Amino acid sequence: MKKIRKRDGRIVDFDEQKIINAILAAFKSVDGKITEYATEKAINIADYIQGYYEEDDDAYIPNVEDIQDLVENGLMSTKRKDVAKEYILYREERSRARRKNTKFMETIAEKLMASNVQNQNANVDEHSFGGRMGEARNELMKDYAINYMLSDLAKNNHLNNEVYVHDLDSYAVGMHNCLTIPFDDLLAKGFNTRQTDVRPANSINTAFQLVAVLFQLQSLQQFGGVSASHLDWTMVPYVRKSFFKHFKDGFKYLYGKEEEIGIPDPTERSIDSDFYKQYQKVYTYALEKTIREAEQAAEGMYHNLNTLQSRSGNQLPFTSINYGTCTLPEGRLIIKALLKGSIKGVGRLHKTPVFPCGIFQLMKGVNRVEGDPNYDLYQLALESTAKRLYPNYVNVDWSINAGYDKNDPKTYVSTMGCRTYNGLDINAEPGTNPQTKDGRGNIAPVTIIMPTLAMRVKDDSNPVQGFLNLLDEKINEAKDMLIERYNWIISQNPNSAKFMYENGLMLGYDGKTIESAMKHGTLAIGQLGLAETLQILIGKDHTTAEGMEVAKRIEQLFNNKCKTFKELYRLNFGVYYTPAENLCHTAMKKFKAKYGEIPNVSDKEYFTNSTHVPVWTEISPFEKIDIEAELAKYSNAGCITYIELEGGIQNNLKALEQLVNYAMDKDIPYFAVNVPNDTCLECGYTGEFNDKCPACGSEDIQQLRRVTGYLTGNYKTAFNKGKQQEVEMRYKHGKKM
Ligand SMILES: [Zn+2]
Repeated sequence: MKKIRKRDGRIVDFDEQKIINAILAAFKSVDGKITEYATEKAINIADYIQGYYEEDDDAYIPNVEDIQDLVENGLMSTKRKDVAKEYILYREERSRARRKNTKFMETIAEKLMASNVQNQNANVDEHSFGGRMGEARNELMKDYAINYMLSDLAKNNHLNNEVYVHDLDSYAVGMHNCLTIPFDDLLAKGFNTRQTDVRPANSINTAFQLVAVLFQLQSLQQFGGVSASHLDWTMVPYVRKSFFKHFKDGFKYLYGKEEEIGIPDPTERSIDSDFYKQYQKVYTYALEKTIREAEQAAEGMYHNLNTLQSRSGNQLPFTSINYGTCTLPEGRLIIKALLKGSIKGVGRLHKTPVFPCGIFQLMKGVNRVEGDPNYDLYQLALESTAKRLYPNYVNVDWSINAGYDKNDPKTYVSTMGCRTYNGLDINAEPGTNPQTKDGRGNIAPVTIIMPTLAMRVKDDSNPVQGFLNLLDEKINEAKDMLIERYNWIISQNPNSAKFMYENGLMLGYDGKTIESAMKHGTLAIGQLGLAETLQILIGKDHTTAEGMEVAKRIEQLFNNKCKTFKELYRLNFGVYYTPAENLCHTAMKKFKAKYGEIPNVSDKEYFTNSTHVPVWTEISPFEKIDIEAELAKYSNAGCITYIELEGGIQNNLKALEQLVNYAMDKDIPYFAVNVPNDTCLECGYTGEFNDKCPACGSEDIQQLRRVTGYLTGNYKTAFNKGKQQEVEMRYKHGKKM
């Protein structure tokens, strides 16, 4: 019996008919039909190959490629060279597809075995079981999205390193990005989960526990972060409930009765009311108990949010809490508890909590200057920032958030830790404030990789104009790509995110279509590498006057176009200064592969994020704020400004305050301070010391650094190569203070 060796090594019987079929297929695709001539030739060639066997003994086992070579030669010897060519093309195509499959499976194997860890997302442990499975699955999901979901426009832009589609692994299932959770309603009404229902919160303690639970549950309905927009205000009713309970206990203990204090609803009475204060002893007792409960509950929340890993790869949910403006005694008590918990740290060594991202809301007349009711809490926030990097600061008076309601904290500026911001909602229901943040989120982002575009026009007679023209075109395409994804997202069944829809986490859901909810979210057009783009176009970046002039034209274009799209499509398009955690590195790798090393552009491992001043620029913090403030006003879907300081700032909080105030006065929306945070994992000593603990000499050190607004564990093991280098190149602006 004649045998043949297949590609996978298996030996099977030689089948003449398979050869005939393959030859006939080649003829058919050229001629459109199978002619007599074709049939004759096919049989001839197959016979010839048979004969090839007979010349040899039974031990002769050719492989598939040998047989195909013979077919090819056979066809070449006929008059029909065109058919031979067709056959060769078909062979090449098949072999390309096979190579692609092999490469794909190699990538899957790498992920499954964690043999080539890239740290694409600093929150994921790629070595863990969950991380290995999750990363392998992500490769499959990404491949599926690119090859079966994206339009040619989106696919080409993505693969050409021009417009990047984020979170491709979540594309195919039609998930959205992030959400500001409407905690006020959920805590008051309770909610349902798949397995049970949860009753409304009745104390500070349960309220804080439910905050952690809700963060957890919602983070599984989407791929990005979750936030609370005004946690201090949210907690007011539960502070009153707890206080009332403690007061009742104290009263009963002292007076042996309780009927005199009955009111229908304790949440309607301030803990500062004269009613309570008339019983001074009981009041003091209840207040102390309430403060202790708040501190323990806040600590419990920090603990929960740093331990409950709910996504694959031992990921913690990306959580953020905004607070700082509530001047009621109940809210102030909560703010204090949150800040004290942050300063104290978590665990045995009192490590800096990585989550939640704390965001202090600064507001004129509330906490900005001495004499403001919450100025003391701002001071406490600064103490925490100097030690723990958190809280960051958002600017409630930011000009772009105009139209917010002073009496409604749901409309104050709040943000996701990373920077995502929900601006004026073009689809706000009549009678509601379009600046409402709760129940809204970013639906999906794309990012324009500007340096690639700049390379395409750099030899034009007027490269700046050439760039603006090309950018205009690419912003249009970015918009089309977002609409493409948006349409896919809104075509999903609400049962895909039952928890989110059933419990009203998304604003505006009408019980029928997902669109009724998604239309309130943001479609973000992001950008990467303004600094490098300017270098390519004019040989200098926006730290120069000439660079800034071009930068403004670029950002104005983004801004104008998003404004036009918003009106035209009645969707919340916005300019987004992308937190390109992974992209800053991967886009550079692709760029280098194409263009090589260009001084000041690709002579490093990463692109500078969005509109930032390059991290190595030696300027004072005030100068950095000045430069970035000029561009912050063009963004309405999220941006951040960072400053690098030295550890010594802990002893100079006045200087820190001066800096934060300066940023707020310059209309910076979101401001964060980076201080070195190295923790000895032996003794808990925290400071900046790189390799060795100055207190105990241990070399077991965790070096916490900030990535994209959030913090992450040890940057040397959790950051990708680009981000690691970026951290090491950061100039400490504090040196020039
Ligand atoms: Zn130590």
